[in-house]
Formats: sequence, structure tokens, C-alpha cells
Amino acid sequence: METIWLYQFRLIVIGDSTVGKSCLIRRFTEGRFAQVSDPTVGVDFFSRLVEIEPGKRIKLQIWDTWVCCGCCSVVSCSGPSPGLLRNTNIHDWLEEAKSHVQPHNIVFLLVGHKCDLEAQRQVTRQEAEKLAGVYGMHYVETSARDAINVEKAFVDLTRDIFELVGRGDIQIQEGWEGVKSGLVPNTVHSSEEVTKGDRRCLC
Ligand code: GDP
Repeated sequence: METIWLYQFRLIVIGDSTVGKSCLIRRFTEGRFAQVSDPTVGVDFFSRLVEIEPGKRIKLQIWDTWVCCGCCSVVSCSGPSPGLLRNTNIHDWLEEAKSHVQPHNIVFLLVGHKCDLEAQRQVTRQEAEKLAGVYGMHYVETSARDAINVEKAFVDLTRDIFELVGRGDIQIQEGWEGVKSGLVPNTVHSSEEVTKGDRRCLC
């Protein structure tokens, strides 16, 4: 019997209003850029399968809940507040996120969104990468409008979570919906199968 998905990971996408969260999620799940986003017709649940290696499929659920194992923290490369990528802000939201997910572990990804607006850029990629590195996060710049790195952002985050699940740092637990195992038995991989990455953020 073919495995439909090895695991289901639940993710949350956070960030200030208008940084582009809805557009980012819709680009990833629907493959389109919806220019006008009406919060009154919001959808708070999205789902998509990703293949992290040939034959290794993970089902992603994107929910507005801290019952999750991965978090995309979205800031806009073009502002309005360059301070969003300053040390104190990142520190504050990381601490807040940690308090929400305890006692579980979570992987963070810092997303610099709207990278197509190069002329309005407020923070250099090097600056943001350096700051993300301080906190053990990957940083990726995306554009929902121009479909830049959107797939990469979610797939990279999924790979990072997959690695931690393989190591047992994120565990499947009865009654916790952050990670679920797949639809067929014997699909839990051994840690040897997991590709080693470089930096991880684990709290
Ligand atoms: P949210 O409040 O964080 O969910 O933000 P939205 O997804 O509703 O987007 C806010 C505004 O940013 C809208 O006018 C979008 O069209 C615009 N936007 C979203 N993503 C991008 C992008 O990648 N590039 C550009 N230039 N604009 C974007």
C-alpha cells in the first residue's frame, strides 16, 4: 500500500497585519496571488501536501493556533517598520511563542516577505540573516506576488521539522495535534535516514 503521507505537521504563520501572511499562504496552498485580501472572508485553515524527498510526503496544515510544530514568522522587507527585524522584537516574539507552545518544541523560520519591492527595502538580507542566525533560525526572502521562494520557505521548514521528529526532539503525542503520524503503519523513519541540516531553532 502506498504511503499517502508520512506525517502531518501543523504550522502557524504569524506577523503584523498587512505584512502579507494571507497572500503568502494562498500562494503556497492555491498557487495564486490574490491582490485584495478581505479579512471578513478569511479562511483560517489551509492544507497542502509537500514532498521533501522523492516519495516522502508530508501533509501540512496551516492553522491559526499554537498547537503546532512549526512557525513562519513573517516580516516585510519593505517596512513599514524596519524595527521589526531588530533584536529586541525578535527576542520578544520568540519568548512569547515559546510560552504558547510549551511543553512542546517548535521550529521557527523567519520570512522576509515582499522581497519584490526592492526599491522600498528597509533591511538588507545580510542584516536579517545575521539576526536570524543569532536565534538559530533560517531566514528566507519571499514574494507572493512574484512567486519567489514561497515553496522553498515551507519546504525548508518542513524538512527542519522532519529532522527533529526523526531525532525525537519533536514527539508524536496522544492528544496533541502538532504532529501526527501517517496513514499507513511502519512509516516512522529512523534518525539515520534524516538529512542533517546546519542551524535549527528549538525551544
Ligand atoms: P496580512 O494582513 O499579513 O494577511 O497581509 P495580506 O496578505 O492581506 O497582504 C497585505 C497587502 O500586502 C495586500 O495589499 C497584498 O496585496 C500585499 N502583498 C502581499 N504579499 C505581497 C508580495 O509578495 N509583494 C507585494 N508587493 N505585495 C504583497
